[in-house]
Amino acid sequence: MSGRRRSAGAAPEIAREWHPTRNGDRRPGKLYKHSLVRVWWQCAVDPLHAWENTIAARVKQGTGCPYCGGRAAGPNTRLPALKKSAVLSLLLQMDKIDIAQLKEAHEKS
Ligand SMILES: [Zn+2]
Repeated sequence: MSGRRRSAGAAPEIAREWHPTRNGDRRPGKLYKHSLVRVWWQCAVDPLHAWENTIAARVKQGTGCPYCGGRAAGPNTRLPALKKSAVLSLLLQMDKIDIAQLKEAHEKS
């Protein structure tokens, strides 16, 4: 195979999702060689989706936005994941109250 491409143009899709503010002075082309550095990405579909990952993971594994991919619940996720996490946090809150009450009841008895 002789399909060797220039590093700068090797991953235009992921360069497009480079986070504009969270990476400081870093630039996608500059960091391409040091691809094990964790950097911030911004979703091309929804700018509210931001996540941290290595360039290597994105290029080699082809991973995209975890929110759009259903792997994380974002601020405006409309997937059942949001419902699930809301229910979960409610359950946790209930657990906290129950544990405290149980402890109190146990200590009193
Ligand atoms: Zn997304």
